[in-house]
Amino acid sequence: MGCDEVHPRLDAYLDGELAETERRPLRDHLQSCPDCGPEAAALERLREGIRRSAPVYRAPDALRSQIRFALRREAAASAPAALPHASRWLAYAASLLLAVAIGSGGTFVFLGERQTDPVASEILDNHLRSLLGTHLTDVASSDQHTVKPWFAGRTDLSPPAVDLAVEGFPLVGGRLELIAGKPVPALVYKRREHVINLFVLPASRSDRGETLTRHGYNLRHWDEGDLGFWAVTDASPTDLAEFERQFRAATKS
Ligand SMILES: [Zn+2]
Repeated sequence: MGCDEVHPRLDAYLDGELAETERRPLRDHLQSCPDCGPEAAALERLREGIRRSAPVYRAPDALRSQIRFALRREAAASAPAALPHASRWLAYAASLLLAVAIGSGGTFVFLGERQTDPVASEILDNHLRSLLGTHLTDVASSDQHTVKPWFAGRTDLSPPAVDLAVEGFPLVGGRLELIAGKPVPALVYKRREHVINLFVLPASRSDRGETLTRHGYNLRHWDEGDLGFWAVTDASPTDLAEFERQFRAATKS
């Protein structure tokens, strides 16, 4: 195995994610190569240092692998060949910090995004979390007369919980989420096998009218009266735009 084959596998090697068939030649290379050996050792020390100084909250495995996948895809897209060592170190440190931020329940950081809307980030983070566990709904019902009253007394915001089954977006329930430290309603819809989480916040006067796409998730935001709606899903942008159209049509007073 040559140095150019070692470099792209170093993260996976240190994460213990390489198959034995790759792990062995890579370890042999690290033991004999005057460049890669010390570099791997330094990386390992950096990881140890961060591990020691950072609070230990372990993100769920599915989320961790999703983050790793996203990071590697970013890395592959932005750095095809040989990055200078310094940038690879920076990328690596950034990936660790990202893992720490996620692990500690902090705000989701979009790597490579210069502008990060904190609310959009938090909503995406929440959406991911809702898909990981068993906590998709607090109240499971397609009946708006069950879902809407459930939120009363739990949050100041009263969401119009319309069922859109006929339009192809059945309401499956609702749950309470914390966004920016406040309890807010999240309505849960389905588009075939895809989940659409619709977060209801106070209107923010920043109607986007466009779809934001982050690592395969699509997010739309619109205001209606005093309420701001944030819909996030891994269904297609076309489906999401259709969902917004149908929801607005059904809730228009
Ligand atoms: Zn080498």
